[in-house]
Amino acid sequence: MTQHSDLREKCGVFGVFQSPSAAHDIYLGLHAQQHRGQESAGIVTSRGPGHCLVYKDHGLVSQVFDRDIVEQLDGQFGIGHVRYSTSGGLSRKDIQPLVVNHRGLNIALAHNGNITNAAALKEELEVGGSLFTSSSDSEVLLHRIVRVRSDDPVEQMRQGLRGIEGAYSLVLKFDRGVAAVRDPHGFRPLHVGRRDGGWYFASETCAFDILDVETVGEVAPGEGWYVDADGPRQFRLLDPPVPRMCAFEVVYFSRPDSLFRGRSIHQFRIELGRRLFEEHPAEVDAVIAVPDSSNSAALGFAQAAGVPLDIGLIRSHYTGRTFIAPGQSARAAKVKQKFNVVRDVVEGRRVAVVDDSIVRGTTCRQIVKLIREHGATAVHFRVASPMVSNPCYYGIDMPTREEFLVNRVPHAELARYLTADSVGYLSPASLRAVVGADTCRACFTGEYPVPVDPARSVIQKHSEVEIEHHAVL
Ligand code: SF4
Repeated sequence: MTQHSDLREKCGVFGVFQSPSAAHDIYLGLHAQQHRGQESAGIVTSRGPGHCLVYKDHGLVSQVFDRDIVEQLDGQFGIGHVRYSTSGGLSRKDIQPLVVNHRGLNIALAHNGNITNAAALKEELEVGGSLFTSSSDSEVLLHRIVRVRSDDPVEQMRQGLRGIEGAYSLVLKFDRGVAAVRDPHGFRPLHVGRRDGGWYFASETCAFDILDVETVGEVAPGEGWYVDADGPRQFRLLDPPVPRMCAFEVVYFSRPDSLFRGRSIHQFRIELGRRLFEEHPAEVDAVIAVPDSSNSAALGFAQAAGVPLDIGLIRSHYTGRTFIAPGQSARAAKVKQKFNVVRDVVEGRRVAVVDDSIVRGTTCRQIVKLIREHGATAVHFRVASPMVSNPCYYGIDMPTREEFLVNRVPHAELARYLTADSVGYLSPASLRAVVGADTCRACFTGEYPVPVDPARSVIQKHSEVEIEHHAVL
């Protein structure tokens, strides 16, 4: 799959208690997780009860924040969020963290995931008098938490999150502290770190590395942490844990330098590549990756094949909107803008091209064509995961079911469609063996750990009336 064209992670979160420069830490933590959401960014900080600063806007972290803004975000604790919106664009009111003032307390929430019974819960809350300001499923969580009649944040979270279905890795800012909570299936990642007596929470551990924060472990599925001046409190959610971590985080979404089960994602991808070669060997002179997300899997494939990994495709990191030449297809133009082939790596050689996943398959087809045009004598296309055949309802934005390659082109026709000499993709059994049985692999297998009824999950968008200014400082 080619960088974020077919699949998009919806969010990354970060939280800290406490640090002399909380906003600066959050800024860097979000910057390291920019790949998890590029359309908006937000930071909330606090010095304590009655004090809450918020700044959020559309754009990349480096576009939303500058030195002045970060310095104005005073406080020793806080949370942050990067987000990619679902189709239809992102209203300012949906940009996170979401903040409410309730009974004199400020509570802010940042969410990675997707609530599968959000519409039903929202209706219930509205009947009970709740007024919603966004079309985000995350606001349902916030309402449920603030309605709990308790002054103890731990009790508010335990009771408020009971019966919430789907995926939620959350960081929250309360008046005196910061919390991190992961749903009982633990679909989306959430990690715990420590530095100089402060506690840190992040979707991925690469956010800790940039701050020299030591990774302590994960917030376990069904677990919560609340940290204030009295120290950390760990608690269990009321719904029982049934771990089902997202396998696609390993296959594609997470950065290779982030950890999964205490090992780098890079190592897991090497193993996927090795198994891919065992299942689908190919007699080739060179192995090349579809950069950058397939690099580790291609390395594993090359190691198992005993053939050198070479740099045959170069990806441009600066593709934006450009004009398409008359007569040129939009897809072909986009692929050419994004990838170039190193001619002498492929010319006159049999090449294995390793990709991490196939969703629509249209880009892979163009890549194979491009490599052939540069003189490869054979192109064997290899995919380090099973074919994506089902949509995700747990926090990943995907094309519709009908658009998946596997649902459009019969297996026997795949090589011909991709114009490759052969095609091979990893079996579901091998993926399971590498990432573990306690993972969600529903988009590959159709076996959903949480039953999904789209009518219960989709919150209708409000009419777009912009009344808020983006910054509250
Ligand atoms: S359906 Fe796929 S992308 Fe969604 S959580 Fe499960 S493995 Fe991850």
